[in-house]
Amino acid sequence: MYDLLEFWDPGVHYNQTALCPSGRLSRAALVPLVADIQAVRQLIGYGPPTHNHALCHVCSLPQHDIEEIDFSLFTPRDEQAHRDIAMVYRNAESTAERENIAKRTGIRWSELLRLEYWNPCAYVVVDTMHNLYLGLLQRHVRVYWGVNEDAEDGDASELDASAPPERPDEESMAKGVDLLLYGSNSDLLHAGRPVLYHLCVDRGLRRAGYNRQLVENLDKWVDFPVPEYGDYMTPEIWEAEKSLGKGNKDTTIAQYHKKTLVAMCAVRDLNSGGTKKELAARLTTYASSGNAELATVKITSTLCAEEDDEDDEDDEEPRRHGKEAVGHDTLTAYMEDHSRMELPSWVNAPPVGFGTKKHGKLSADQWRTLCSINFPVSLIRTWGFQEERRVAMLRNFIDLVEAVELVGLLETDEERIARAEVLLERYLIIAKELYKGHKIQPNHHLAMHLGFFLRLFGPVHSWRAFVFERFNYFLQSLDTNMKLGEIELTFMMRSCREANFRHLLRSPVVRRHMKPFSEALRALDKEDRRGMRLDAILRSADADSSTEEVARKVSRTILLDPAVYSALLHRINTEETVSPRNPAPSRTATPCSSASISGVFYKPRTRSTGDSNIMFRHPSLQGPSAGRIEKMFMHAGKSSGGQDPRDELYLVVKRLEELDEEDAAYDPYPQYGIVGGRLCYDNYSKEIFVLQPKDVLCHFAKTTMDHLVLWRSNAEGLKEEVRLKKPCVHVRPLDRVSTQASAMAGC
Ligand SMILES: [Zn+2]
Repeated sequence: MYDLLEFWDPGVHYNQTALCPSGRLSRAALVPLVADIQAVRQLIGYGPPTHNHALCHVCSLPQHDIEEIDFSLFTPRDEQAHRDIAMVYRNAESTAERENIAKRTGIRWSELLRLEYWNPCAYVVVDTMHNLYLGLLQRHVRVYWGVNEDAEDGDASELDASAPPERPDEESMAKGVDLLLYGSNSDLLHAGRPVLYHLCVDRGLRRAGYNRQLVENLDKWVDFPVPEYGDYMTPEIWEAEKSLGKGNKDTTIAQYHKKTLVAMCAVRDLNSGGTKKELAARLTTYASSGNAELATVKITSTLCAEEDDEDDEDDEEPRRHGKEAVGHDTLTAYMEDHSRMELPSWVNAPPVGFGTKKHGKLSADQWRTLCSINFPVSLIRTWGFQEERRVAMLRNFIDLVEAVELVGLLETDEERIARAEVLLERYLIIAKELYKGHKIQPNHHLAMHLGFFLRLFGPVHSWRAFVFERFNYFLQSLDTNMKLGEIELTFMMRSCREANFRHLLRSPVVRRHMKPFSEALRALDKEDRRGMRLDAILRSADADSSTEEVARKVSRTILLDPAVYSALLHRINTEETVSPRNPAPSRTATPCSSASISGVFYKPRTRSTGDSNIMFRHPSLQGPSAGRIEKMFMHAGKSSGGQDPRDELYLVVKRLEELDEEDAAYDPYPQYGIVGGRLCYDNYSKEIFVLQPKDVLCHFAKTTMDHLVLWRSNAEGLKEEVRLKKPCVHVRPLDRVSTQASAMAGC
């Protein structure tokens, strides 16, 4: 801490540096603090997240409101107030007094507060590796859904965080209902856990959390009972119900879609005919009647009527059990797709045996791949055609995955951040409805502050733990010979040497004369495969070469075959619109075995099938296409300014055939946005395209769909099977820079 204080004021004066011969002043400041949340809380002096005033270090939401997911209700913490309390804690005269302050406020003194510039409410970032990949994604799959290879797929509706209490006798329950309708909240609280729990279950309310939370759920229901929609609940219905509950006017309610308003009237036994305006007026009149008892009776009668209907229908499909959602069928589909999927080498695939007893723990980036690539491919083609609850579960999961993908982009802007926030809020609203037995966790709450950090510190790759775990690895790989007293000096010497060396390698003279050497060194850098491989690759590339391609040439020169040569001419000529090149470009070229474009390595298919699948643009094609790199070569480019012509990289690509219009209408994937991907026919066009590096957008994950079965509703509203005209492959663009290619491909 003392070092940090000095580094800021007065700073350190260096007598001489490479760029400043007369020396310069250097200051260092600690700004973002990156760690997993437990470590962070200790470091900044917060009590456990269960403390009512220490749920969150960014906003002042109390722990008992943790289920609140309306962003607009979060008030940022006051930095000065935090510092004031921490000072009182530090200056307290006894341990007992200190503990008293911590108990009351949830705040302790932290040594970091010595740094006057440091803001404990804004500089402690929520680490996305722990929060999203190991947190939200893992929790969703393991806890909300549950995984069980020995069981049929369930619908997870009966999964609870802890064992449910046994149902009390009818008399106790009747007494509970009485307290609910006519008693006070504290009377209701005394009814005990089993009664509260089953009162919630009976009304389709959330049943997770402390007794106080259950009373709150019941209390809200009495104030304005949101009817039980079950699987019919949609994000829009939820929004509209909330709006109605707030007492908004009929003109506001009338802005929702008609089918939403019809559903809201129907579930309340109201007339569901007429215009949107009439429906909205009916709903607001009903809501403002303020007669909770009447509302209760009506809605209960609607529910009973629905239950009776169900009993009458014999041809109803057998209901799924309410336990683990990822059962035998889903795991089989996952394994099939896993074995048919080609991934680029920078993607860390989850084990094929995921969900079986044999496999070990998944790493953070394996959770990311599983949830953002494998599961969407398998679940959209299976769950996507099942009953409404499973479809709702799928859509809700895709919302989460898209939000996670948007947060993880290497380039971001306000539009993407805002979209991630909307998706995350929608995810949590619907997840609360779908998984009523699970509490909202501190991680869920913290995830809602990620937008704040993205706006403050930019894209996550510079402030998430992957990078720092890589630095840990780097430090561990330094040779210290266990001489402990000298360890700091060794670090210093090694770091300086490496910094000087890198500086030297960057100078133009050295670059010109030692190109193979610096390339070999860069290749060595990539041996570090821990953490996010793409991050590692991008960060090891020099900043100034990240946009230019680095190609590995094979020495011999070849004569281009006529089809490739004519495609090359076509590409060169579309670039130079003024006049065709004179003299004609050379017919010879030097083949390459791999090339790095914007920090990602691409290879021809003979070298690596996974690294050859690319999304690309071409002047003669509309929108992004999916294709395969057949060959890559360096070709003598145009000479400029009297200098020798520079070799330019070209890629020879064949394109996957697009679905025809009729088949495209059955493709279930595009409706799921950037996470869904799309289908193509499993067939490469004969036509050859020659690309320049700037035409390449990103890799894609390619999955052959051998026995793809799709469904549609026929005129009578019955499901019928659809077969596409030819075998298909699934294309999932892997643009982790800006999602441009994927977003376009989804259109
Ligand atoms: Zn907060």
